[in-house]
Amino acid sequence: MAVAILVAAGSGERLGAGRPKAFVALAGRPMIEWSVRALRAAGLEAIVVALPAGHPAPPGCTGVSGGRSRSQSVASALAAAPADDRVVVHDAARPLVPPELFGATLAALADADAATAAARVTDTVKEAGPDGYVVATLDRTRLWAVQTPQAFRREWLERALAAPPDVLAGATDDAMLVERLGGRVRVVESPASNFKVTTPHDLAVAESILC
Ligand code: C5P
Repeated sequence: MAVAILVAAGSGERLGAGRPKAFVALAGRPMIEWSVRALRAAGLEAIVVALPAGHPAPPGCTGVSGGRSRSQSVASALAAAPADDRVVVHDAARPLVPPELFGATLAALADADAATAAARVTDTVKEAGPDGYVVATLDRTRLWAVQTPQAFRREWLERALAAPPDVLAGATDDAMLVERLGGRVRVVESPASNFKVTTPHDLAVAESILC
């Protein structure tokens, strides 16, 4: 099968819940447990979790201390992951992930070095300068909002995560580190339900879907 890495070490400041986001209660259980359930429903049993200080790994998962940035958390988890040549990385902040999305991103590795769940952009996207004036309107037919899960051939993820610390610190996803090395990254269309819980509004929406 494949190894799963669940990144849960972020502080979740924008949620303002007074505890790390992955451990905020969502529909009666810590948010992280929804992703663990989805991984298991997809047949992924080897799960390594990058954790914030003082928080335990969910039962049956291997826990490691998270890093200063998300990619550093992924690197710590990968170092503790059992041998397997495919790895799927998921954010604990996406608790509504449909289990079949894990298999879909892994299947896309048949002709790619990495694959990422992504949603088509429905808004028109403009680029503005620091002065607030628009400088460009992008062609939205080619734009994707990138999510997790992201699946990798293990050797590509290991090489990607060997990037200098400043590059890792600036990476907002792991697939961009593969792109940086010339790897081929595929997008796999995902449903709207796979949104990231960032704000109290997102938490309320997730709660209303799950209850
Ligand atoms: O901050 P953001 O919501 O983009 O974080 C995405 C995911 O990365 C979250 O699940 C968060 O817990 C994780 N993360 C991490 N280690 C960090 C920063 C974020 O595991 N240092």
